[in-house]
Amino acid sequence: MRYSRTIINTRKEAPSDAETVSHKLLVRSGMIQKVAQGIYSFQPLGIRVIKKIEGIIREEMDTAGALEVLLPFVLPADLWIESGRWEQYGKELLRLQDRHGRWFCLGPTHEEAITDLVRREVRSYKQLPLNFYQIQVKFRDEIRPRFGLMRCREFIMKDGYSFHEDEASAEETYRSMHEAYTRIFERCGLKFRAVEADTGTIGGSFSHEFMVLADTGEEVILSCNSCGYAANLEKAETGISENPPSVDECSHSVEKIHTPGKKSVEEVSSFLKVKPSNLIKTIIFNSEGGPFAVLVRGDREVNTTKAARLSGLTNVELSDDATIEKVTGAHTGFAGPIGLKIKKFADNELKGLTGMVAGANEKDYHIVNIDVSRDISVDIFGDLRNAVEGDICHRCGSGRLRATKGIEVGHIFKLGAKYSSAMKAFFLDRAGREREFVMGCYGIGVGRTMAAAVEQRHDEKGIIWPVAIAPYTVVIIPVNWRDDAQRLMAEKLYVNVVQTGIDAILDDRDISPGVKFMDADLMGFPLRIVVGQKYIKENRIEIKRRDQKESELVEITEVIQKIKNTIKI
Ligand code: ATP
Ligand code: MG
Repeated sequence: MRYSRTIINTRKEAPSDAETVSHKLLVRSGMIQKVAQGIYSFQPLGIRVIKKIEGIIREEMDTAGALEVLLPFVLPADLWIESGRWEQYGKELLRLQDRHGRWFCLGPTHEEAITDLVRREVRSYKQLPLNFYQIQVKFRDEIRPRFGLMRCREFIMKDGYSFHEDEASAEETYRSMHEAYTRIFERCGLKFRAVEADTGTIGGSFSHEFMVLADTGEEVILSCNSCGYAANLEKAETGISENPPSVDECSHSVEKIHTPGKKSVEEVSSFLKVKPSNLIKTIIFNSEGGPFAVLVRGDREVNTTKAARLSGLTNVELSDDATIEKVTGAHTGFAGPIGLKIKKFADNELKGLTGMVAGANEKDYHIVNIDVSRDISVDIFGDLRNAVEGDICHRCGSGRLRATKGIEVGHIFKLGAKYSSAMKAFFLDRAGREREFVMGCYGIGVGRTMAAAVEQRHDEKGIIWPVAIAPYTVVIIPVNWRDDAQRLMAEKLYVNVVQTGIDAILDDRDISPGVKFMDADLMGFPLRIVVGQKYIKENRIEIKRRDQKESELVEITEVIQKIKNTIKI
């Protein structure tokens, strides 16, 4: 491509709403353009990155034996009513009516659509297993679209769904998708990690998230420095605390203390001169089974997913102030386990602790000298807190957990019979009986992968694309376009490179070389070739990798070979 024939507009300024590096750089380099909140156009340069990522995904899916389909983006409400999600999905599902008053939605995910397709086409276990995928636009009316391509409302996803006669077959395909995803992100040139994620009611370790590692990532990954265990924050299990807080050994009875206006852990612990780990945090949750309380040590964070799992209840969410006041009889900040008339689940760490402090369920009062086993009627003890850096690994018992940041770009999940059962999708098994399909689902955020690559690979000048997903692999820059020799050589090189099968962009603009270099760095092409004075004087051409500081001078006759060698790296 010739620069003069494109519409690339690089910008010095990032948009005012851009908080993340990838959002800033993708807009500044002219790859994407915001059309509305969470809705973007891909410009000619940006779509090339998307197409390259899609190409890698397609190859790996096809190699793994998955079948490409294209399901409708506009989906009839009936399918969603059948699965029960028309009611459940909430406001992320954008619903609309056609001219006849019939309801539809914009597809946020396609379990219903694929289950419908399969129940109409597949009759027998002999046709199974089947694995389908598509690469398509999704729409989710996210409450807070942000960070450019990272969390949009309209975004491109590769979604896949597999159908099986039994669990064992589903698990085999799960493993092959795990391998395919690993190859996809490796081929994209990204540093990533597959981590265990929560499986909800499915159980087992059949949910993994693929995280691109980046300091700016929103997700916390906990990984063991000794065994291979790695999980996201929601899921990461905790072992027994190795440093129980120092406690008051003599068994004083509980006492109510006036703590005017002291609500937070910091305020109470400094007022009473105790460590935060000597406090008990009492968190009230709402659920479809009514409110319940979760107790964790004052220096810990409660984990909502674990609370939902241990309680066995659904629709678990933090209570609002009104519920807290109703349940505890006191303002938020003074809740405590003693005298609380709702179910109480306590984190394992609290077992047997004495000399603890908790809210008194009365404004401006706390209770001290609490002996957990003596004074609190705990319904169930369990793992209810977030794991933290330094925790002993629950899996191997000897290693330590390290916390790193990541961006979730892919998710694989064993679904079970949730949709086939709700939508009556049956096949005939080996004994001639009707059975529900066992399903798996597998997603990759294509746009999010593009953004994650930028988060992981950039410097102060701009993007540093991995070769495999760069918009163009090579940029050719004649220093002075008006110089006939330089121009002709640049043109010739451009033709040669393209004929070799390497995609290149020729910066044929008649502007200062400084601007061309700045733009090339911003757009992040992996290889820059400069035709300048050195060519005129010495017949040599400068080659520079975007990810390295130094450039190299190469004889004109060796340039093509040099490019080939370099981009293989
Ligand atoms: P998140 O927790 O980030 O909202 P999710 O669990 O809702 O993600 P899935 O339904 O598993 O995501 O979708 C599969 C993939 O699609 C995700 O791993 C992510 O890469 C991508 N994705 C999901 N939501 C968005 C979004 N709003 N914008 C861009 N990509 C998204
Ligand atoms: Mg989501």
